[in-house]
Amino acid sequence: MKYVTLNNGIKMPALGFGVFKVEDGQVCIDAVKEALAAGYRSLDTAAIYGNEKSVGQAIKESGVKREDIFLTTKLWNEVQRTGDPEEAFAQSLSDLGTDYVDLYLIHWPVKEKYADTWLAMEKIYQSGRAKAIGISNFQTYHIDEISKVWSMVPAINQFEMHPMMSQKPLIAHCKKHGITPQSWAPLGGSKPENKGSVMENPVLLDIAKKYGKTVAQVILRWNVELGIVCIPKSITPSRIRENFDVFDFELASEDIAAIDGLNQNSRFGGDPDNVIF
Ligand code: NDP
Repeated sequence: MKYVTLNNGIKMPALGFGVFKVEDGQVCIDAVKEALAAGYRSLDTAAIYGNEKSVGQAIKESGVKREDIFLTTKLWNEVQRTGDPEEAFAQSLSDLGTDYVDLYLIHWPVKEKYADTWLAMEKIYQSGRAKAIGISNFQTYHIDEISKVWSMVPAINQFEMHPMMSQKPLIAHCKKHGITPQSWAPLGGSKPENKGSVMENPVLLDIAKKYGKTVAQVILRWNVELGIVCIPKSITPSRIRENFDVFDFELASEDIAAIDGLNQNSRFGGDPDNVIF
């Protein structure tokens, strides 16, 4: 496993396991236990995913020590509008069955709220119950806006990034501030209508063949080599293992450039400029 060092000195695995749309209960418990058994040591959930209890249960059943796992969850949008971040955070800790998380993220930049929310996140960090705090789905101008009030620079910005949406300007902006970029939907997400353009892309298929790897492994390795923390999701045991098996090869610079060249700025998920959910 490779690690990245966040801007407060905390180490985070370069590749983790995401659980968006993983059904709460046994499906989630089994998937997370499978991931931990395969070697993943970073888990990415969110209050809105409705599966924090199952993630916590899986950690307990896995036999892996809590301190060996990098656990991330996120503050939901409605809390920014009408709720209390501290209360929401306490609820997440209780649901996860832990007294701290390794990373707490603002899930989306809710208009006219996210700067105040960032200040609430700083208080949570200062309480010691989140080892790092960060943002998700923030565009460059959202980062500039919170930079006017922040006492701490976010450790992470987690956003949509895959070969069809390579996000070069946002990545550069994050790095300029010392914010580590993290990709969501690295494999193109779970919507069938988007899957083919990524997983059956001829350029990616050729590169995969060259290295004797799968398209998923090539994309995840591309993330690792660009310094982008990635968190692929799967409930399929063979894919869970496949997605973790990316640390025994390196992509040549021309292959990285070929993947970079696939970008079409195609967004498959929500639009951070219009957070109405
Ligand atoms: P991913 O890009 O990880 O794709 C997941 C889909 O790809 C699933 O349908 C999965 O199927 C399939 N898949 C997984 N591995 C393979 C493989 N090796 N070969 C073929 N298909 C595969 O999408 P996500 O949207 O889940 O993103 C990853 C994580 O990012 C989320 O789980 C979540 O933690 C986070 N996220 C964060 C967001 C945010 O707003 N901050 C938004 C969206 C996601 P199956 O499960 O059936 O195996």
